[in-house]
Amino acid sequence: MKLGKNELCWCGSGKKYKKCHLDFDERLEELRLKGCLVPPHSMIKNQQQIDAIRESGIINTALLDEVTKTIHEGMSTEEIDDLVYEFTMSHGATPAPLGYEGFPKSCCTSVNNEVCHGIPSRNVVLREGDIVNVDVTTIYHGYFSDASRMFCIGKISEEAEKIVRVAKECLEAGISAVRPWGHLGDIGAAIQARAEQDGCSIVRDIGGHGVGIEMHEDPYVCHVGEAGTGLILAPGMVFTIEPMVNLGTQKFFIDKKNGWTVYTKDGKLSAQWEHTLVVTETGIEILTH
Ligand SMILES: [Zn+2]
Repeated sequence: MKLGKNELCWCGSGKKYKKCHLDFDERLEELRLKGCLVPPHSMIKNQQQIDAIRESGIINTALLDEVTKTIHEGMSTEEIDDLVYEFTMSHGATPAPLGYEGFPKSCCTSVNNEVCHGIPSRNVVLREGDIVNVDVTTIYHGYFSDASRMFCIGKISEEAEKIVRVAKECLEAGISAVRPWGHLGDIGAAIQARAEQDGCSIVRDIGGHGVGIEMHEDPYVCHVGEAGTGLILAPGMVFTIEPMVNLGTQKFFIDKKNGWTVYTKDGKLSAQWEHTLVVTETGIEILTH
């Protein structure tokens, strides 16, 4: 079904097709005919949706800033969760993890050898030398934003410092690799190269994802890959980049008792940083800054 030039655009902008996504569709079609894998329209957000995700991201970022100010030795991860819940609700928003597929808390707190999806608990008390990832997703007026940071408790080991730094640089490398009309594989390739440069490994099978209207949308963003391969990155795509970087093996296992927490198989440290970003006409915009 082809839209007439004067019909309303499929993106929901309310603009005429010729003044909105007509050129975009022509460019996609050209790439498709060249054999590229192109994103379906369902992956493309309009300006109004992007603006709403940005608003959500502002609260999500303020929340992580609040965690940064508050987190300290002797604090339990349950206390972090309380802060996340209170802060989010007091800003007219909702913590997306709470009740998501049965998840019992408002954020994920993953300590040391936990890769991700750690469940806040009053029994997990932060001690000097710990590194902890706090991952928060905020729903505001129905729109989702998702980001995480690492926190270092007191003086940490050289190894811990290294994995936290390399993971951050992996995220930065991934973000730098995003180009409008580039490929999804560019991201994974850049991240993998950065990690391997320092002898670290990248977790596979858990990765980034589309986000905005739902907590998890397509595409799946793999943090390893080959440049110039995979889905085309088109303006209007909103997704997370969130490499999980391990000091030892990339292999992991999931806690059998709680069904959530992911641990490194060798018990070595893991770190992760995350942003939500949108591909624009000219580059990218980080929506969780
Ligand atoms: Zn449009």
